Amino acid sequence: MKPSFRRKPAMALATIVTGLLLFTVAVPQSSVDEKRVRAHMEFLASDDMQGRGSGTKYEKLAGLYLASQMKQFGIAPGGDKDGIGLGAYIQTVEIERTRIGKTTLDLGPEKSISLTGLRIGNTSLEGPLKRISIDETAEAGSITIVTTLDGTIPREAFPSLFGSPAKALILIAPPALMQQLSGFARRASSMTRIKGTGEGESASLYLVAEEKAGLLDSIPVGSIVNILSEITESTTSNTWNSVGKIEGSGGSGEAILLSAHMDHVGVRENAPGDDKIFNGADDDASGCVAVLELARILAAGPRPKRTVYFAFFGSEEAGGFGSRYFVGTFDRPLEKLVANLQFEMLGRPDAKVGKDELWLTGYERSDLGSELARNGAKLVADPHPEENFFERSDNITLARRGVVAHTVSSYGLHTDYHQASDEISTMDFPYMTNAIDSIVKPVIWLVNTDWKPAWKEGMKP
Ligand SMILES: [Zn+2]
Repeated sequence: MKPSFRRKPAMALATIVTGLLLFTVAVPQSSVDEKRVRAHMEFLASDDMQGRGSGTKYEKLAGLYLASQMKQFGIAPGGDKDGIGLGAYIQTVEIERTRIGKTTLDLGPEKSISLTGLRIGNTSLEGPLKRISIDETAEAGSITIVTTLDGTIPREAFPSLFGSPAKALILIAPPALMQQLSGFARRASSMTRIKGTGEGESASLYLVAEEKAGLLDSIPVGSIVNILSEITESTTSNTWNSVGKIEGSGGSGEAILLSAHMDHVGVRENAPGDDKIFNGADDDASGCVAVLELARILAAGPRPKRTVYFAFFGSEEAGGFGSRYFVGTFDRPLEKLVANLQFEMLGRPDAKVGKDELWLTGYERSDLGSELARNGAKLVADPHPEENFFERSDNITLARRGVVAHTVSSYGLHTDYHQASDEISTMDFPYMTNAIDSIVKPVIWLVNTDWKPAWKEGMKP
């Protein structure tokens, strides 16, 4: 348990007035306050917040609460440019969902071939037809037919397919390959895009069955062709992030992101028993409170060298839409984002690690965890590698874009996970307070050092 020294501004005056000789105890700025931890948790995980369902008004209310706290700490808003008041901390995310029917490659009068979508970024594409084999690079803006070398797609080919500069790639697939990729194809029957992020601008991928591919031979290379997908339904919805920042004094433009997700799974009428509200106390009100306390302490201290972003993401539980928007609209080059620490489920200890320890997902992938540990963090490797937690929170959105990004947690696989019973009453507040406190100094070091974390060879996701 942490010592409970508190800053008392009136002390110096009191000392003079009473003439008492007091040894001045240097009150550390880095002191997490259990009363605050409890108060934030009691708001965020209350029944009145209705489980903060992804994209619901309760998610937004959580965001406004977090914004209100950041404003009190003196943290600048980092939300919508035209936002006013607390709204300046809020990022409004528009999600467009389109259901796709048939997709066809139009080859001119009365000639078309049906395609199976693997990834559809746009429902209407036009470009010059090109042909390559899978080990070649497609031309920018083209619609390119890709032949495989032996009827399979090697694992290592996928990154270049997904990152292709073409508008579309059409892979000629023998029956075995069609079968192998049928799972992907089912998912591609809908398209979800986040407005403003440029999502969907990367290459669309399709399969064409080998037996139909003969029709393509008659089309000269360079002909302008169209790919059209039938839209069967289209809806738009919102989610929100709550974002604040402290501008660094260092002038390097480097930044650190501290984050958590404010949404949970809401109310489920079909849940067993009387309690239908999934409060999400541990998941992830606890992480939000960790970021909030770090924000308060950093804002109260000397200005850090690196800029620090505090982001509370919406719709993590529904597909990471909040973090995808944040990354897609980030206001400086992503290379300047030196590290991201996401905080998840710190409300209870994990018996698999030491009493005061936290664990870091993907610890072995970069040198960030070990370096934080060298600087005092009680941080160890994730003891549940089989759960693949590294890919199960918002950090993965950033990691896939190259940012050294991990999640800090102490989730011990308790059975209240994603249940209505993930309630305040199960929180271990002294543990949680101490856990957040233990990461404060290492974070203060991280936002002030010139040291940069890096992925270990071959470990970048
Ligand atoms: Zn979570």
